[in-house]
Formats: sequence, C-alpha cells, structure tokens
Amino acid sequence: MCKVRQSLQLTMALLKPDVIANPIVATEIKETILRNGFFFVQSRYLRLNRQKAEEFYQEHKGRFFYNRLVSFMSSGPISAHILVRDDAIRHWRQLMGPTKVFKTVYECPNSLRGRFGLTDTRNSMHGSDSEPTAEREIAFFFPEFDIARWYAKDGEYFLN
Ligand code: ADP
Repeated sequence: MCKVRQSLQLTMALLKPDVIANPIVATEIKETILRNGFFFVQSRYLRLNRQKAEEFYQEHKGRFFYNRLVSFMSSGPISAHILVRDDAIRHWRQLMGPTKVFKTVYECPNSLRGRFGLTDTRNSMHGSDSEPTAEREIAFFFPEFDIARWYAKDGEYFLN
C-alpha cells in the first residue's frame, strides 16, 4: 500500500556558481536532495548576466554585500530547480542551513551550507523563503511554467 503525501508544495532551489564549478559537489548535493524526499520537477542550467542577478536580488540593493553578491552570482553558470515535496519550502531551507556559513559550520555542520559553503556570500545554494517568493522565483527562472495548473493537475503525479 502506498503512502499518500498530503499538501505538496513547490519551491525554487539554485545551486550557485561555487557548486556548479565543482561537479562532484553538485552531484552530492542533488543526491542529498533526492534522499531527503524531494522530486525535481524542472531543472535548468544558465548563466545570469549582471542585470538579471541585480533583478533577482533587488530586495538586497543597498546592503553592504549586494555588489559582491551580484558579482558572484553572475560570475559563472548556476542551476535552477523547481523542487517538490510536502512542506518543501521549510524542508529545503532546513537542509540548506542558515545563510551565514561561518556560523553554520559550528551550529549546523551537517547542513549543505555547513558542508559545502565557502563564505557568507559564496554559500552554495538558494531557497525560496515563502510561497509568494517561490512563485515569483519560479516565474523568474521558468517563465513558461504554469504554477496554478501544476497545483491543480500535474501535482497528482508526484503523490506516492
Ligand atoms: P538566504 O539566501 O539564506 O535566503 P538572504 O536572502 O538574506 O539569505 O541573502 C541572500 C544572499 O546574500 C545569501 O544567500 C548570501 O549569498 C548573501 N548574503 C546575505 N547576508 C550576507 C552577509 N552578511 N555577508 C555576505 N553575504 C551575505
């Protein structure tokens, strides 16, 4: 008898340039994602130009790390992934670990950022922090993806 997963939720994950530059790390992260009950709904490799990186991180404009962040995010290829599972937003952020790597290596050494993050800026990955943010970010990287339709129709294929 299969267990039915209730309340599937979509979230957006990015593997940042530090990860994509290291295929062994990228593979380990993707395997960890799968081992933690997520499915990959859609994935895309791309490179953000500076303008798109500024747009994606516009809420941080004016912060001391903004310039560094935008330069880093446009410095090389990244991968974008729509992930699904129950309570996906919370679970993915928990698996990633806190933003600040220097704190994370002591407090959450087994989180992905604890294991693979290099600095507070080069912290390996991104995850949406709320449902409205996930919708905006999915639309940013996958403009052709119909979120409402997915929830109404296609999500059932991920029930198991
Ligand atoms: P998160 O990615 O954990 O949701 P934020 O949205 O606050 O964190 O920040 C976006 C990104 O900006 C972080 O992932 C990190 O790359 C960078 N960043 C945030 N805070 C700092 C900081 N204090 N110093 C350097 N870089 C930072």
